[in-house]
Amino acid sequence: MKRDTGQNKNITESWRLQTKLVRGGTYRSEIGETSEAMFMTSGYAYDCAEDAAARFEGEQDGYTYSRLRNPTCAMFEDKMALIEGAEQARSTATGMAAMTSAMLSIVKTGDHVVSSKTLFGSCRVFIENILPKFGVEATLVDGEDNEAWKNAMQPNTTAVFLESPANPTLDVVDIGFVCDLAHENGAQVVVDNVFATPLLQKPMQYGADIVINSTTKHIECQGS
Ligand SMILES: *Cc1c(COP(=O)(O)O)cnc(C)c1O
Repeated sequence: MKRDTGQNKNITESWRLQTKLVRGGTYRSEIGETSEAMFMTSGYAYDCAEDAAARFEGEQDGYTYSRLRNPTCAMFEDKMALIEGAEQARSTATGMAAMTSAMLSIVKTGDHVVSSKTLFGSCRVFIENILPKFGVEATLVDGEDNEAWKNAMQPNTTAVFLESPANPTLDVVDIGFVCDLAHENGAQVVVDNVFATPLLQKPMQYGADIVINSTTKHIECQGS
């Protein structure tokens, strides 16, 4: 299976947004389908045992197991990375799974998190009630108050989480200011971009390290 015209990354990045939305991340199989095919497989076939061994060792390009990478998810991930302006994207079953794994990829026991307090309810529960169970304390701040962000930073702050504009109050955080502050303190920034979508705001342009989206909201055009 070869990648559609996106083989040359420079071409895809210079595409206009509308073209990226329709054509970005499209892989086309030897069948020549015009829209994305669904690959409902967990495993993949190999020409010989040596190929399988090389693939699992990471010495040969290709798929090994769908939890790690599957063409259906890869097309979605590559399109999202292209639209968001990210080096790469990973898909999970829900937005909360993305938020949770983004945060857990950064923090460890004894670390401290600073977060804006106006958050989607489940994100707030994760920061306020679940992280402390694993020895990660959080300080919640008024996201619109830059002084409050400054005062909340601690030497053990490793992650900063924010949602801007917030759902549903539309609180707006100065993402660039918070990213600079976090980076000066050696912390990484996770931005919840669900409400704005990457069409209207690309937090990585302002320094965000990880951006999360939920596809049950504006991205797939549902009303919720
Ligand atoms: C819906 C939502 C989430 C969580 O996404 P799910 O796909 O429902 O898990 C996270 N943040 C915001 C701002 C949301 O609106």
